[in-house]
Amino acid sequence: MINLKDKSAIVTGGARGIGKGIALKLGSLGANLVIADLNEDSINSCVTELKGLGYKAIGVKCDVSKEEDAVNLIDSCQKEYGKVDILVNNAGITKDTLLMRMKKEQWDAVISVNLTGTFNCTHAAIKYMLKQRSGAIVNLSSISGENGNIGQTNYSASKAGVIGFTKACALELASRGIRVNAIAPGFIATEMTAAIPENIRNGMVNAIPLKRAGVPEDIANAVAFLSSDSSSFITGHILDVNGGGFLPGIGGA
Ligand code: NAP
Repeated sequence: MINLKDKSAIVTGGARGIGKGIALKLGSLGANLVIADLNEDSINSCVTELKGLGYKAIGVKCDVSKEEDAVNLIDSCQKEYGKVDILVNNAGITKDTLLMRMKKEQWDAVISVNLTGTFNCTHAAIKYMLKQRSGAIVNLSSISGENGNIGQTNYSASKAGVIGFTKACALELASRGIRVNAIAPGFIATEMTAAIPENIRNGMVNAIPLKRAGVPEDIANAVAFLSSDSSSFITGHILDVNGGGFLPGIGGA
């Protein structure tokens, strides 16, 4: 049975989508939450919902691509709960277009949030985790970082970068009791994937061997496992949560 009682857990991009699903799951397992997101209204409504369920939660407005915001986020967790146990680097964006049409800004934006944002938060968090000699970090990669995907050269590169970053961090930090793993979701029904045209979306779901789109709870269950002591001998692992979709030509977000 997974138990996160009194563990502090930061979820970036935690106010909606997969991040909110992760926050709800970790809260239900006893974790004290820090919800980091861009939009103050969505942060407030998410924190109110979590508190209504009886969970401890605070919200921090944070753009993970900004180093000072990431430092403030992690410091806020330390200040509120006295430790930084779990960091879930979930915040992510897409700016899809074919490479020949991609503007440098579209490349930079996606790399800054998805990859540099993961670096910024991890870098700030390990300051405390190294002293504690414990911690669990879970990064959100993607099936697109493993397979590549048409129209997603920027996104696929960022998510492949997250895989390399996860594996290198795991090696560097293992001797200090800090575990670093990643999840590579396939197609999960959220606002991010709702932006994909319906006919393409239906085709993607039909190509999934388990014949359904994933839901945020599918990812949240995997995050709960990787951030808990139930996975205490697992680090540097990339867990596919994709309905069997890791096949050539099956893309995702
Ligand atoms: P989503 O519905 O678009 O939600 C993303 C969340 O991240 C939003 O709350 C967003 O805030 C926040 N965010 C965006 N940029 C941020 C920044 N710079 N700093 C802090 N927060 C930021 O996305 P999702 O589908 O839940 O995806 C969550 C993660 O899973 C992402 O890393 C994504 O790449 C990954 N993933 C998703 C899928 C999928 O099928 N959905 C598949 C593979 C991987 P705003 O509301 O203010 O925009």
